[in-house]
Amino acid sequence: MSSQYELRAEHQPGEMARNGHHWHVVRHGSLLGLCGRLTSPVGELQEILLIDDVRMEGRCPSCWAAYDEVTTPV
Ligand SMILES: [Zn+2]
Repeated sequence: MSSQYELRAEHQPGEMARNGHHWHVVRHGSLLGLCGRLTSPVGELQEILLIDDVRMEGRCPSCWAAYDEVTTPV
């Protein structure tokens, strides 16, 4: 299991805000999501260990898929 990653929240203006944050997986110390989206430097940060606790609607599907790929041994 790699711990070289962390979760970063993307702040959503408007109606998405009521669902809370949208989380992306980024490399440790990076702002660039695995999906290619740049997250805010002032956005919230969570340990990657909490990845399974993020609600489905708060997940970036591309990031989750990419993270699965990098953490699943081939
Ligand atoms: Zn993402």
